[in-house]
Amino acid sequence: MSIDYQRILDEIVEETAFLKGKGKIADYIPELAKVVPGQFGIYLRMMDGTAYHTGDAFTRFSIQSISKVFALSLAVSLLGEKVWQRVGVEPSGTAFNSLLQLEYEKGIPRNPFINAGALVVVDMLISELSHPKEDLMEYIRMLAGKQEIYINERVADSEKQFGYRNAAVANLLKDFGNINNRVEEVLDLYYDMCSIDMNCEELSQSFRIFANHGKVPGTDKPILTPSQTKRQNALMQSCGFYDESGEFTFTVGLPGKSGVGGGIVALFPEKFTIAVWSPLLNEKGNSIMGMKALELFTTKSGLSIF
Ligand code: GLU
Repeated sequence: MSIDYQRILDEIVEETAFLKGKGKIADYIPELAKVVPGQFGIYLRMMDGTAYHTGDAFTRFSIQSISKVFALSLAVSLLGEKVWQRVGVEPSGTAFNSLLQLEYEKGIPRNPFINAGALVVVDMLISELSHPKEDLMEYIRMLAGKQEIYINERVADSEKQFGYRNAAVANLLKDFGNINNRVEEVLDLYYDMCSIDMNCEELSQSFRIFANHGKVPGTDKPILTPSQTKRQNALMQSCGFYDESGEFTFTVGLPGKSGVGGGIVALFPEKFTIAVWSPLLNEKGNSIMGMKALELFTTKSGLSIF
């Protein structure tokens, strides 16, 4: 029996309405605090090309930590296994910006999706790319199949101005010898990538590579090998949702990545990618309506990887 996806999305809108207004915008980055809180969008893109959407699916928002997935996949495509000499693959069990864990683990971040890990990945990109910022943007544009993807300079400036903790993490990494370039340069590129604006439609497109064994659909040349893609998805599953990755696996059952802008992108290999966005977050930093929407989606469609 075929599944009526549009109906499922419409039901999700009704069944998440009780959560409207619950949660908190990420105000530790002042520019992010200006977002209108009630927005909510979903874009579902099947691997056969059909797509369904609802709400604010075409409104751009700050992708924040979702960018860490792009950075990691580019680093893996350039460096392969060498990436794992400088960053681990374990869930952190602590906040995404924890200094404590980094100190007692001697500067090897637990995984590439906590801030420390992403800073190390960014450092790798700076060493490998001739024009790191432009090359990373071109890579993301290629994945999204669209040139008009930009950094929101106001958000980037706001992060630079108030990023005391990230600066502390980067300096600690440098002290442990796990940053090779200048700390300022690493922080700048990190903030720039976190400050990219994209919408649900664009994010669902850009994640198709991870549902397609490492190939951008419609192209011949793989960016990642099937094994690298499997690992990327495994990391999203175990580490993609801050200190709530277990809960996300339990209630939703898809690999994915969230950001403090309120976006979440998830996927089912060979079947679909789905991006949801709603800016109000729970205390762990994940979108409250976004998490509920994805839980309802996998429950109603029966499409979880487990
Ligand atoms: N730019 C944010 C920070 O470093 C990213 C946070 C996130 O989405 O996890 O604090």
